[in-house]
Amino acid sequence: MERHSSDSGWIEVITGSMFSGKSEELIRRLRRAQIARRKVQIFKPVIDVRYSEEHIVSHSEMKIQSETVQSATEILVIVDMDTEVVGIDEGQFFDGDLVSVANKLADLGKRVIIAGLDMDYLGRPFDPMPLLLAIAEDITKTHAICVRCGSPATYTQRLIASRERVVVGASDAYEARCRACFDPHLSELVEE
Ligand code: ADP
Ligand code: ZN
Repeated sequence: MERHSSDSGWIEVITGSMFSGKSEELIRRLRRAQIARRKVQIFKPVIDVRYSEEHIVSHSEMKIQSETVQSATEILVIVDMDTEVVGIDEGQFFDGDLVSVANKLADLGKRVIIAGLDMDYLGRPFDPMPLLLAIAEDITKTHAICVRCGSPATYTQRLIASRERVVVGASDAYEARCRACFDPHLSELVEE
């Protein structure tokens, strides 16, 4: 992406289904910023401490150190003034304040990179990610591979019975599927 001013901050969003490589791409960008000797801080929501409390961990076991926050506004409290790059994973688990927090950080001149699910297990837009897409300077949509047919996958198929939007600690309860193979009713059927 072309950068027009080194003084100005901006927002990048990395979004797609589970297993699409969002965390890998986030970690790759943050590592490159560290190699460039930028001051980097990385945050994730408290709900996502499944694999590590102190790291973002990808499904391919790439990892990078992170800080856990209770809410989006806590990022504004914790972030150091001289931090140049702010990474945020699992954006969909934050409240709507993440939108104003991301804007504020970018207005302060920081590069903000947010990764998160674009859709929930029923294929519905997963707030606040759609709102972040609207305000971002740059968007990357990542695709997984459909485990049924091998096509590019954009949906997260839930394999267990639950009507909760968030089922924590159950990454083996999901798989990536394409539009043709995705079945939003499966999560109800397996209950019966
Ligand atoms: P996300 O953050 O989007 O859930 P990760 O970055 O954590 O994704 O993991 C991506 C990695 O997951 C891939 O590089 C690959 O090793 C692994 N993987 C497992 N299942 C799939 C799948 N169905 N499609 C693509 N990658 C998969
Ligand atoms: Zn498929």
